[in-house]
Amino acid sequence: AKEAGRDRMVLFDDELREKQLAVARTVERLRGALTRGEFVVYYQPLIRLDDERIAGFEALIRWQPAGEPMVPPDRFIGLAEDSGLIVPIGAWILRESCRVAAGWHRRHATVISVNVSPRQLREPDFGLLVLDVLRTSGLPPEALILEITEGVLVNSGLVTEQAISHLAMLRSHGVKVAIDDFGTGYSSLAYLRDLPIDHVKIDRSFMPAQDAPDPTAGVLIKAIIDLAAGLRLGTIAEGVETRAQVDLLRELGCVRAQGFYFSRPVPESDAARLLHEASTT
Ligand code: C2E
Ligand code: CA
Ligand code: CA
Ligand code: CA
Repeated sequence: AKEAGRDRMVLFDDELREKQLAVARTVERLRGALTRGEFVVYYQPLIRLDDERIAGFEALIRWQPAGEPMVPPDRFIGLAEDSGLIVPIGAWILRESCRVAAGWHRRHATVISVNVSPRQLREPDFGLLVLDVLRTSGLPPEALILEITEGVLVNSGLVTEQAISHLAMLRSHGVKVAIDDFGTGYSSLAYLRDLPIDHVKIDRSFMPAQDAPDPTAGVLIKAIIDLAAGLRLGTIAEGVETRAQVDLLRELGCVRAQGFYFSRPVPESDAARLLHEASTT
């Protein structure tokens, strides 16, 4: 028995080592990906629920290593955060998506929503970076939404001052801030009132399933929309996949929606086509 135990231990060590090596290799490839130009931005429309027109887009990063399948963000954002690479990668996607969005904004008055990781907000010059991106792209500050998660602002009950001061400074210039994946964290609701935010993005786990005629479906989503509206915050529902969900959200007073029902995230040229088609019909 002792022998077998030791064998298992060895096996476990090997597996662990394999995993660590795989992670190290991915981080190495990730390190060169920016200079090799392997990142691509996809855009997913944000739809106004009153007239169902395009209000803007969320920028979502993709990694396309040469000759390999595209890597979804869930497979590398975590590694990029742990290794600090999210700082240059995040700066790149901000610059690239604001450049593209400035062109769309001039003709269609659309906004762009960009994900910002907690790690980026810990950088002392994050605020200056955003101001510089706005200046060089020509995008008006009001047309930029920064998406952050609850954990950025409230960490084990403590408000993180660096993040707050960046966001407060940027909001004084007109930039908007959205809480992403709202409702999935564990912080108190009071912070919605006290922190520098403009919009709440309701996590898709709150979207009632179409095939569940459950009388409690929609209770949580209604509570969130009412709470946000009462605090004069905008609401964006994520993961909208059916017509029934769109109708429910409009009835509940949700302002915007985003999801496969309207469009998957698409490359820049397809997003431009969606905008053009919408403006000529
Ligand atoms: P997220 O910010 O919550 O982005 C929404 C995700 O939901 C996207 O996945 C999008 O493709 C997916 N989605 C949109 N509509 C639907 C729908 O109707 N149904 C379903 N099932 N899914 C839908 P994606 O693009 O794979 O991104 C995953 C996550 O990776 C994002 O979640 C975000 O946390 C992170 N991420 C993506 N791009 C960036 C980035 O540039 N910077 C940072 N820091 N994180 C990013
Ligand atoms: Ca997001
Ligand atoms: Ca989200
Ligand atoms: Ca999410």
